Amino acid sequence: MTKFTDLNLDPKVLKAIAEAGYESPTPIQAGAIPPALEGKDVLGIAQTGTGKTASFTLPMITLLGKGRARARMPRSLVLAPTRELAAQVAENFDTYTKHMKLTKALLIGGVSFKEQDALIDRGVDVLIATPGRLLDHFERGKLLLTGVQIMVVDEADRMLDMGFIPDIEKIFSLTPFTRQTLFFSATMAPEIERITNTFLSAPARVEVARQATTSETIEQGVVMFKASRKDREGSEKRRVLRDLIEAEGKACKNAIIFCNRKTDVDITAKSLKKYGYDAAPIHGDLDQSQRMKTLDGFRDGTLRFLVASDVAARGLDIPDVSHVFNFDVPSHAEDYVHRIGRTGRAGKNGKAVMICVPRDEKNLADIERLVEREVPRLPVPGASQPEAAEAQDAEKTEEKPKRSRNRSRKKPEDQANAPSPQAKEESPAPQSKDDTSEPAEEAKSGDEGKSDRGRSRGGRGRSRQDDNKVVGMGDHMPSFIALSFEQRRAG
Ligand code: AMP
Repeated sequence: MTKFTDLNLDPKVLKAIAEAGYESPTPIQAGAIPPALEGKDVLGIAQTGTGKTASFTLPMITLLGKGRARARMPRSLVLAPTRELAAQVAENFDTYTKHMKLTKALLIGGVSFKEQDALIDRGVDVLIATPGRLLDHFERGKLLLTGVQIMVVDEADRMLDMGFIPDIEKIFSLTPFTRQTLFFSATMAPEIERITNTFLSAPARVEVARQATTSETIEQGVVMFKASRKDREGSEKRRVLRDLIEAEGKACKNAIIFCNRKTDVDITAKSLKKYGYDAAPIHGDLDQSQRMKTLDGFRDGTLRFLVASDVAARGLDIPDVSHVFNFDVPSHAEDYVHRIGRTGRAGKNGKAVMICVPRDEKNLADIERLVEREVPRLPVPGASQPEAAEAQDAEKTEEKPKRSRNRSRKKPEDQANAPSPQAKEESPAPQSKDDTSEPAEEAKSGDEGKSDRGRSRGGRGRSRQDDNKVVGMGDHMPSFIALSFEQRRAG
């Protein structure tokens, strides 16, 4: 097995690695560091969680240790798709350069231009940036890229998803032809292949096994849950979530709770807080400073529960997460692998528990096909007292107004025919397709209709609209209600 000491890294870097507690290089590090140190271009095909950040940072700082920074001309450049990832690379850089005198600047949205300008003016060894912000600085004449000797592109496939490829091409063309390029992507889409063929020169290709399978260090489970009533699904799922958290007890040091929709991220975080849990949401609609604050709190242990959407959490390196709860079954099977990969990292043990409602069973089957194993079924926690839990939830959470609105929409005969929660609990027969799709759309109001997933389900999207119309029509009060109301007033 390769050791860090075999890799020709600067002794000061080796010291920092030892202090970080790393014993041996990960496969991507063992594969990428030697060619990078020889000055070769590297094409690394690896995902987060594999140690890829160190696989470019360690050789980069070893090489940079030999020269000096010049004003306004950074000697190296790291491009990351999101602010969070850029900030994360910057943190890695600080960890590994702690015994060296290398300087860095971070160019990301939400951080003041002035401060970063001052740093760049003085000269930095490493510039870490998101593509748009970098080009802003360049166009303002604050920066010269002609001194870049090493350029890193991190998470290129996400750059592609986010539409940054033209920016990346532009940035490549602004740096010297002689630069060394270290290029990382989790997948090799044709567009990525094209970029690497254009801008990399005879790269060493290092590929580590794709995380199509989940880590052995993660204990997995799924609770098959069916709400007592469609309109109570949200609140009852949140009750199940709380029960699952409680069932873990102290073993649940901290957790990321994933929801499919941004609205549910907010609702779930709010609901958990109401019940006394230390929780905060993170998704793309929150402003940068808020997201950073939440993430910092989660990293340093002052925040125990991070409720997140896939986009906000993907690629985030948060070491030491004991649990992942999937409040929803992700509709893309690969997202499951990403989500639960937040725990059980770097050899540590982790646990991932998911809640699956009947209409998500197809997505669960897709996940099991992808990871080539069955996710063990867990009993529904607290299944014996659905009524008590419901009553409690209705009292305390925001469900109240929703429930009263739903009730007013119901035809009297529906109410009469609605089975009691107990009756439903006792007969968990699968619902018909129509039956199951309805509550989903009820829950899916708000911004989530904009998501790709919402769009991809054409038929359902229509039923959501219809559903919304019905909600709107609730303003037209059925005559029998209006009548009794008037009568009551008169009386
Ligand atoms: P990354 O894939 O770069 O996001 O890294 C994933 C996690 O692995 C980070 O928390 C790193 O600090 C950690 N890590 C990186 N290299 C090693 C190593 N050689 N041994 C143990 N942990 C590592």
